[in-house]
Amino acid sequence: MEHVLIVEDEQHIREFIAINLSRNHMSPFEAESGEAALRVLAGNAIDLVLLDLKLPGINGYEVCKAIREKYPNIGIIMVTAKNQDMDKIMGLELGADDYLTKPFNPQELIARIRSVVRRTKRMETIKVQAIVSGKIKIDYNSRKVFKEDVEIKLTPKEFDIIYTLAKDPGHTFTRDQLLDLIWGTDFYGDTKTLDVHIRRLREKIEEDAASPSYIETVWGIGYRWKDVK
Ligand code: CA
Repeated sequence: MEHVLIVEDEQHIREFIAINLSRNHMSPFEAESGEAALRVLAGNAIDLVLLDLKLPGINGYEVCKAIREKYPNIGIIMVTAKNQDMDKIMGLELGADDYLTKPFNPQELIARIRSVVRRTKRMETIKVQAIVSGKIKIDYNSRKVFKEDVEIKLTPKEFDIIYTLAKDPGHTFTRDQLLDLIWGTDFYGDTKTLDVHIRRLREKIEEDAASPSYIETVWGIGYRWKDVK
């Protein structure tokens, strides 16, 4: 049973969502602010947070960052009022797993929640403690990446990409596979999003991003991690 925390200041929306989650055999928790959400998270095993962007007190952006830092394996779905907000969130790279625009229908909400929980659980079960490849070390538990023992700061999505590629060196992932594994099948963006992330990631980890020695481009197909001894 999925334990879902609903962070929403409008009581009627919160209750509406909670009823729909219960009907679908999920266990809803409720918080009317970011501060309250962090208290609930500290005391309960939550699988996913449904996070409204416009909250009194600390706003949705800040709450998202705080959850990501403290609980890297909890799924986060951001709920926004307009598509414009969505573009802004995407640009901010807060590490949310998915986004929903109000008004949304309950079936779509349930499907998104299941998809994100499935994905975060899958990432959990396939985890390898640490991957060492060339000068790069990737530690799953702390979600940190080091190059010659110096930490390289990555965004959550960049981490998911490097981890997914590096745990399977030499294997070519198509762009669609990577989007599916990292963003989920119902992701609303396109493969350009992935290419932008790969470019930023290369700038951080490669000696020469123009001639990468870790993340190889497989032309017309996708990307693979070079098997560096
Ligand atoms: Ca609100």
